Amino acid sequence: MPKIQIFGGGIAGLTAALLLEKQQQDYQLFERQSHWGGKLQTTLRDGFALDHGFQVIQSAYPALSVFHRQGYLDDSRAFGAGAWLLVNGKKTLLADPLREFPRGLAALGHPSIKLTDMWQVIQLRNAILNQTPQSLFSMEKTTTMDYLQQRGFSSAFIEAFFRPFFTGIFLEETLDTPSAMFRFVFWALAKGKACLLPGGIQTLPNRIVADLNPARLHLSAQQTAVDTNNTVSPHRNTQVHYFSVDTDLGLGKFIALNAEKHGEINLLAVPSAVQVGYAPKNKHLLCVSMKPGSSNSPKPAMDSKAVHHAVEQLLGVNIDAQWIDSIQVNEALPTDTPYVYQTEKLDLSQNETVAGVRFNAFGGLANPSLNAAILSGEQFVAAVNSRQTTPI
Ligand SMILES: Cc1cc2nc3c(=O)[nH]c(=O)nc-3n(C[C@H](O)[C@H](O)[C@H](O)COP(=O)(O)OP(=O)(O)OC[C@H]3O[C@@H](n4cnc5c(N)ncnc54)[C@H](O)[C@@H]3O)c2cc1C
Repeated sequence: MPKIQIFGGGIAGLTAALLLEKQQQDYQLFERQSHWGGKLQTTLRDGFALDHGFQVIQSAYPALSVFHRQGYLDDSRAFGAGAWLLVNGKKTLLADPLREFPRGLAALGHPSIKLTDMWQVIQLRNAILNQTPQSLFSMEKTTTMDYLQQRGFSSAFIEAFFRPFFTGIFLEETLDTPSAMFRFVFWALAKGKACLLPGGIQTLPNRIVADLNPARLHLSAQQTAVDTNNTVSPHRNTQVHYFSVDTDLGLGKFIALNAEKHGEINLLAVPSAVQVGYAPKNKHLLCVSMKPGSSNSPKPAMDSKAVHHAVEQLLGVNIDAQWIDSIQVNEALPTDTPYVYQTEKLDLSQNETVAGVRFNAFGGLANPSLNAAILSGEQFVAAVNSRQTTPI
């Protein structure tokens, strides 16, 4: 049997390792950094869990079933289905009226939200939930912005909600991300919830690693980088600032969007109001996620005092907040994925080396999501298995 080598200890590589471990297959997993999880990283500081970028686990992602079976997501907790819209120091809750009734109706008092927009949201929800995730990728090939305009949303509603909300997900402000990705994320949000695990996003990879044989795991495995085509593809980047606060600032379990056109803040969230392990007892963690940049035009880091001031302006109140840390996340999302649900069936002959079969579990994703990363790990293991049962 060929030796199986996995390069990359992000979710794609860890998924492959987990499946091979469960099948009692021999493999070796190499990660060039000194920690597991790749883009799912959390820094623990003084009882706070600081995720490297505001990131959630969409409970509806089909590929998560492998982790559901392991019980890794049993204690996940969800953000509210909706968001605060922050304008001129005032906040209005735009919530899913079907799931957050009657709070969801409050948005109708907002100047940018018309009944017709709410109706369009319900129509879009129904249309998208009628599709499979795979088919959502083969519908119209437009940008997200064109798609929203074609669906008939008013520009006021797009500016107040869709632009800031999807800027936080796509890490780009123009919404020129293919509408296939928009439909898939919208489908996941409508069908499931945006969740956090106790103690930060890195809890997920940590749980996988705990189920793997340590003898097969190699961190800081620098030698692997030498023989791989390791050019860095263009990426979007982001910046988060973390503050310790005494209350949840009235935001509760909902994220809060900067619904004004100006300002450098994209969204605020209080993860400690949603999940345990994000802040010490009697404290809350405020996450301030900034508008994104890209490898071509990175945004300069903003001073923490200026961020504090900008948060007060957005919320329209003075807040007692102690800065904890600011984290710049480079290479957050790749921009050169094909934006398909899943890549073509893997041809393992291209992955063979004298040392065995190799899985380069970095880059090369079908789309920039956790779902695609898990699927790529599963796809590799399926190819290994089918090769073993059908010898060449
Ligand atoms: C701020 C942020 C927000 C996000 N939000 C969401 C979200 O809300 N929903 C969603 O679905 N997705 C989101 N994502 C995307 C999601 O996290 C990624 O798609 C997914 O984690 C990618 O996993 P991966 O294993 O493919 O790649 P990575 O996590 O990049 O892992 C690849 C690993 O390979 C290692 N490596 C590279 N080269 C070598 C080598 N030669 N040898 C050994 N190791 C190597 C790297 O060090 C890295 O650890 C977000 C990402 C970020 C950063």
